[in-house]
Amino acid sequence: MDCSEELFERAKKVLPGGVNSPVRAFRAVDLHPRFISRAEGAYIYDEDGNRFLDYVCSWGPMILGHNHPVIRQAVEKAVKDGLSFGAPTRREVEIAELMTRMVPNVEMVRMTSSGTEAVMSALRLARGATGREKIIKFEGCYHGHSDCMLVKAGSSAVAEEGAPSSAGVPAGTAKDTLTAQYNNLPSVQALFDQNPGRIACVIVEPVAANMGVVGPDPGFLQGLRQICDKEGALLIFDEVITGFRLAKGGAQEFFGVRADLVTFGKIIGGGMPVGAFCGSRALMEQVAPCGPVYQAGTLSGNPVAMAAGLAQLTYLNEHPEVYTRISASADYLAEGMRKAAAEIGAGVQINQVGSLVAPFFTPDKVDNFADAKHSDLKKYAQYFAKMLAQGIYLAPAQFEAMFLSDAHSEEDLEKTLCAVKAVLAQMYS
Ligand SMILES: *Cc1c(COP(=O)(O)O)cnc(C)c1O
Repeated sequence: MDCSEELFERAKKVLPGGVNSPVRAFRAVDLHPRFISRAEGAYIYDEDGNRFLDYVCSWGPMILGHNHPVIRQAVEKAVKDGLSFGAPTRREVEIAELMTRMVPNVEMVRMTSSGTEAVMSALRLARGATGREKIIKFEGCYHGHSDCMLVKAGSSAVAEEGAPSSAGVPAGTAKDTLTAQYNNLPSVQALFDQNPGRIACVIVEPVAANMGVVGPDPGFLQGLRQICDKEGALLIFDEVITGFRLAKGGAQEFFGVRADLVTFGKIIGGGMPVGAFCGSRALMEQVAPCGPVYQAGTLSGNPVAMAAGLAQLTYLNEHPEVYTRISASADYLAEGMRKAAAEIGAGVQINQVGSLVAPFFTPDKVDNFADAKHSDLKKYAQYFAKMLAQGIYLAPAQFEAMFLSDAHSEEDLEKTLCAVKAVLAQMYS
């Protein structure tokens, strides 16, 4: 038994499934997880001293690579002054000012401690501001684990009410969340038609990155904007993954579409637990203590977390070439993977938007969650195990993204493509 296995056995006795977040348990790939002891640049090291080239990047935050000196030094400096005060601090003002400069249509910011909280609060604000109760989300989009987001389409003939997708979510909560199909505007319009004047908002991942990676078809996000304007509903971009990743200004800048509210997480914390929801002054001043929409957090705007986030955002703001570089790396990787699959005759789709990449083990185009579910999950598990054996650490589940960072070098990409070729050749021989 290696150290990871030993720790996992201990972990399973005291943590449900041995983990604090389900995907980490490696169940989708039928292996035991590696326990990570440290990370540097594009590499993570496990408790047994194995080194892996990392394409999880903590699920996105480590866009500059692991243990980046600029962020580490900012945190070390902040720690010396104390860990938490429960009172306002200078860095909260500085990060909010910076965000309003970097992100279009953002005049005010409220920090939270996770993406889940940011989304939950943005939805409450959308409901409070419109005085409407129903919300629309898309099948296969993930928005954290708040009750009203753990919902699937209802099975009733009219499908007018959502149904819980997790035990413990009350039916009464789920019914107000309606589910549309990603990249399908008529499915959104139909929900508005069935619920005239009752829908507060549409929430969408502008690039769906929790069903593998599925980009918006041309016109999809613009169409959502038009429908929301026509129906008097708010458009929420959940940019917990895409924020500060697709571009400095996130998906709004990248696709040129305006959202009313934007949620952030992951990159915004530089690896510390941070989230945020943002929007116009008029909307954000509906939030307590200015307005009637209650929202709070004991550790929100935590000084150490703000130091990490501020350092990372400042670096990105001052080094826009990071975006050109990681997108070019992802182009190169995706193209190389497509070529490898074609040469071997493997029916694999490689989806990519900016620095997000995902392979699907299906010969067909993947444009929504129903398509993504055609992917052969057993093949993904095989692929994952073989890549891991080659020293490449991918997301341990099909319905996740590969995250590139600025620390992934040309040599790393070559190494990855070599492994992809070898692994696909084995799998499809
Ligand atoms: C990760 C994620 C969340 C939830 O963020 P947590 O910090 O894990 O609570 C919400 N929305 C999207 C799009 C995400 O990828």
